[in-house]
Amino acid sequence: MAWYPEARKMELQPESDTQQAIRPTQFIMHSIAAPWTKERTFEYWRDSTNLESHFGQSYDGTIAQYIGTETRADANYRANRRADGTGAVSIETASNLNHSDPWTAAQVEGLIQLGVWLHKTHGIPLRVCRTASDPGFGYHRLHADWALGGTDCPGDARVTQFKDTIFPSIVARAQGKPAPTQPPTGPVTPPPTPVPAPRYRRPRAYRAIGL
Ligand SMILES: [Zn+2]
Repeated sequence: MAWYPEARKMELQPESDTQQAIRPTQFIMHSIAAPWTKERTFEYWRDSTNLESHFGQSYDGTIAQYIGTETRADANYRANRRADGTGAVSIETASNLNHSDPWTAAQVEGLIQLGVWLHKTHGIPLRVCRTASDPGFGYHRLHADWALGGTDCPGDARVTQFKDTIFPSIVARAQGKPAPTQPPTGPVTPPPTPVPAPRYRRPRAYRAIGL
């Protein structure tokens, strides 16, 4: 089983030893609808439910790992482990209670780095999952088979961040390129035109006399 070297290892038992092996082919990002640290999320998995994700992330971007990435974790419904032994690696991230806030800059950076590591460690392909079982990267609500009863997770703001920043940056860094300024796939939309702050410019006559 693989443990991400940048994460705080907080192994969740008995799940880590008893759940089936998977061959990880997907990475699915979640918001936990609670402003929890990665340590608090660990306690929740341990004490309050038999579900769990592989990783948890605090608002400060730091990550903990609860289950090895080649062991099943139960955050993604039918993607946890499929009949062919493949499954999804999952991360729950701190959010507000409605998971309506964007990821912090530190969270975005942490997700990018973890995504690159998963690509390099497990060969997760650099594409967005086209179907529920297609290898690649995604977020919880992307495919209905990933959520029992449906979900809005991780929320509109974070879906936009995934599409515009996180996934393109994983691709760019995994390929050793600088981060793109816009997504490499999908319709090309021009970046918003920055509105210059109004700036008072002294009339020429005043400038000439030093005012
Ligand atoms: Zn979710």
